[in-house]
Amino acid sequence: MSDLRALSDEIAACQRCDLAKGRLKTVPGEGAERPDVLFIGEAPGWHENQQGRPFVGPAGQFLDELLLSIGLQRGDVYIANVVKCRPPNNRDPLPAEIDACAPFLDRQIALLRPKLIVTLGRFSMAKFFPGEAIGKIHGRPARKGDRVVLPMYHPAAALHQPSLRKVIEEDVKKIPGILGGGVPARAPEPGDNPTQLSLF
Ligand code: URA
Repeated sequence: MSDLRALSDEIAACQRCDLAKGRLKTVPGEGAERPDVLFIGEAPGWHENQQGRPFVGPAGQFLDELLLSIGLQRGDVYIANVVKCRPPNNRDPLPAEIDACAPFLDRQIALLRPKLIVTLGRFSMAKFFPGEAIGKIHGRPARKGDRVVLPMYHPAAALHQPSLRKVIEEDVKKIPGILGGGVPARAPEPGDNPTQLSLF
């Protein structure tokens, strides 16, 4: 059994927080075992809780379209979440729940060793860019240790706010260039975070 599968089994037995009580299925994540890109969402929703698979509802349909727009399919990447169990009524995950689940995500990142991590929404963004605002840093890749992190809006944001669809579609198109090492040059601007400029 692969280490990744063993980790998914461990997640399936997890009782570290109260989300375990209300879940139908854990949603550890799925995809390629050696992906170039790891997408990290927020938490399972209704559909994911039923199926035990990430991003299989309406937001997932948009994510599939985004992947296709850059010539990728689910099996080419890995898709995970900050928390692996559905919060009741799709409420935001609590800090204690995020902390309880963080070792699982950290181990997934260590096993997958992606070149690029794409954060979807503010909860996964906060793991790499604490205190930042998504409206300010979305679409701007930053080097974090030996990998690059690209913060993006959550695909569900476009379902609630149609004007964000174009923004998300443009941000995802940066992925091939980042993987090819061709990160577009951008002049530093006042107020830029120095850690984000290291890539440019
Ligand atoms: N939203 C997420 O953040 N993750 C999922 O798996 C589904 C919807």
